[in-house]
Amino acid sequence: MRLSKKTYSVKPSPTLAIDAKAKSLKASGVDVISFGVGEPDFDTPENIKEAAIKAIRSGFTKYTPVGGTDELKTAIIEKLKKDNGLIYEKNEIIVSCGAKHCLYNIAEALYDAGDEVILPAPYWVSYPDQIVLNGAAPVMVKTEEGNSFKIKPEILEANLSKKTKALILNSPSNPTGLAYDRKSLEAIAEIAVKHDFYIISDEIYEKLIYDGFEHVSIASLGDEIKQRTLVVNGISKSYAMTGWRIGFAAGPKDIINAMTNIQSQSTSNPTSISQKAAVEALTGTQDFISKMVSEFDKRRKYMVERLNNIKGVSCIKPVGAFYAFPNVSSYYGRSFKGNSIKSSMDLSTYLLDEAKVAVVPGAAFGDDRYIRLSYATSMENIQKGLDRIESALSNLK
Ligand SMILES: *Cc1c(COP(=O)(O)O)cnc(C)c1O
Repeated sequence: MRLSKKTYSVKPSPTLAIDAKAKSLKASGVDVISFGVGEPDFDTPENIKEAAIKAIRSGFTKYTPVGGTDELKTAIIEKLKKDNGLIYEKNEIIVSCGAKHCLYNIAEALYDAGDEVILPAPYWVSYPDQIVLNGAAPVMVKTEEGNSFKIKPEILEANLSKKTKALILNSPSNPTGLAYDRKSLEAIAEIAVKHDFYIISDEIYEKLIYDGFEHVSIASLGDEIKQRTLVVNGISKSYAMTGWRIGFAAGPKDIINAMTNIQSQSTSNPTSISQKAAVEALTGTQDFISKMVSEFDKRRKYMVERLNNIKGVSCIKPVGAFYAFPNVSSYYGRSFKGNSIKSSMDLSTYLLDEAKVAVVPGAAFGDDRYIRLSYATSMENIQKGLDRIESALSNLK
C-alpha cells in the first residue's frame, strides 16, 4: 500500500519510544529506572476528579461547542488575566485536546508550503514534525548553554527571511528547564513586530518554576506583540492531568476562528467531562501546585548536584519544568567491551542496556551533546538511578 507522501516525513515521538522500550523491559521483569517520562508522577487532585464524576452523574456527556464551553473559556480568560496580565475575549480562546493539539491546530491554520518557522534548538520533539506535516520548513537555530539556551536577538535576525512565518518559543523549556527573562523577551518581541512574524509561545510549564523565577508571557509586553502571539497553555503539567487532554490557546480572533473550524472537522470538542474537570482545576484551590513544585524542587537540586559531581558531566541548573539536561559529550569516543559510544543515542542505549536506566538522547531535541533526565519520579528512584549512571559511566574507557 502507498501511504500519503507526508507520512514519510513524520517520525513517532522519540520520547514516547524510549518510554515504551523502558516499560516493556519493566513488564518483562527487569528493574528499570525511567528518567524518560514527560509527565508528573502525582495523582490528579481529588477536587478535580470529583468535578469530573459530578459531570458524568449529571449527564454532562454530550457534544459541547467545538472550541470549548463558555464556562471553561471564562475560567481561561480569568486565568490569563490574573496570572499573565492578558485580556482576551471568548472569540480569542480555543480549547483543544491538549496543548499539543492546540499547537497542531496552529500549524494547520498558519503554515503554507514554503513558509519557514524559526525553531530554537534544543526544542520540544513535536515542533519540527508539526511544521513539516503542514508543508513548512523548520529553521533550526542552535542556542548555547552559556546563554541559558535562549536565542540571541542578533542570531534570530540573521535567520529571518521573506518566508519567515513564525518563531516558536517554549519557556520554561522542555528539555532544558531554562526560561526567558523579561528583558530577553522584549528584545525578541521588538524583532517580531519589526519584521512582522508570529510568535507561538508554549507556556505549558509556566507554573513549574523554582528559585523565585518570574514567568513572563511575551504577549503581555504590548499590544503589537499581543496581536502577533499565540499563547499556548494547558492543565496537563500544572495539575497532573496529562491523560485528560485539555489544552488551550489565546490569540488573534481570525487565527483562533480558523483553528476552531479545523478542529470542527477533526476532533470536534474536547471531552465534555474533562472540560468540567479543567474548570475546577483553574478555579478551585491551587494548593496542589505549590506542594508538587516544592517536591520537584528538592529532586531538582539533588539531581543537578549529583550530575555535576560525576566526572565529565556538566549540568546547568534548570529554573522550570521537571527536566535536567546534562552535557555528556566528554564521554563520546570512549567505549565499553569494544563498542564505541559516539552519540547521545549510543550513550542512552548503553545506559538502558547496561545500567537499566532510561534517559532521552539529546539528538531527539536537536542537540547531540546532551541527554534529558526527568525528575518526575520518586527521590528513591532518582538516587538509585544516579548511582547506576555514575557507575556505568565510570566503566567507559
Ligand atoms: C507536555 C508538553 C506539551 C503538551 O501538553 P498536552 O497538554 O499534554 O498536550 C506541549 N509542549 C511541551 C513543551 C510539553 O512538554
